[in-house]
Amino acid sequence: MTTALVTGANKGLGYEIAAGLGALGYRVAVGARDRARGEAAVKSLRAAGADAFALELDVTDDRSVAAAAATLDGLDVLVNNAGISGEFGPGWEQDPATLDLDVVRRVVDTNVYGVIRVTNAMLPLLRRSPSPRIVNVSSSVSSLTWQSDPAVEVGPIMAAYAPAKSYLNAVTVHYARQLAGTGILVNLACPGLVATDFTGSVGRPAAEAAATPIRLATLPDGGPTGTFTDDDGVIPW
Ligand code: NDP
Repeated sequence: MTTALVTGANKGLGYEIAAGLGALGYRVAVGARDRARGEAAVKSLRAAGADAFALELDVTDDRSVAAAAATLDGLDVLVNNAGISGEFGPGWEQDPATLDLDVVRRVVDTNVYGVIRVTNAMLPLLRRSPSPRIVNVSSSVSSLTWQSDPAVEVGPIMAAYAPAKSYLNAVTVHYARQLAGTGILVNLACPGLVATDFTGSVGRPAAEAAATPIRLATLPDGGPTGTFTDDDGVIPW
């Protein structure tokens, strides 16, 4: 039995990643910080034929993450999907000059420290898997190459969300380096602009956007590690 955990899988992109992995025959742990929302997602995934179960998991809470790890008897795939935007102003802008530091802290706590917290709690289980995979869901707005190139249109200024994803990318590179040779492949996925609550339903269908995270979650042994890709291929750091 191959088990995959998707954080923030009760809705949006995470739900569709869980559905896609379920359709491929994975047993899917549906990570959700709210038990009822997790159970509702599991009900719908099971109705579609997936072998899914709810796993209460708030990525910002040490005890919640430790308890979730303790209930799993094995883990092969970890998809760190849970994320928040922080508050956006008009046009999705986060102006660095007027940023509320509490918003920055919340975004980093969820999108970066949350990934580290969950990954470290799950690593002992992943190390026992024959083909372990870690996928961190990032965004092209994190690309410093694109953000610093005036010729590239990478969307609005997002001074909390985008740097948090850049931080996530940097941390992911270090996991990939540290875990090189262990068989654990660690990669970053950008799903593109996705129609979820996160974007007010602007973007492409989440089921379509789940393709790249699912591809990275199901890489063959010996596949790439430490990469950052979307549907079109490599994204520059
Ligand atoms: P949604 O807002 O639709 O879903 C976010 C999910 O994360 C929800 O399940 C939410 O749970 C969960 N979550 C938030 N905070 C926590 C927490 N502390 N612990 C556990 N779960 C939590 O967003 P998307 O599906 O659009 O986003 C998923 C990922 O994709 C994020 O990492 C986002 O940054 C990334 N992304 C999204 C893009 C887009 O265009 N939508 C583009 C690029 C990247 P709850 O329901 O309880 O709030």
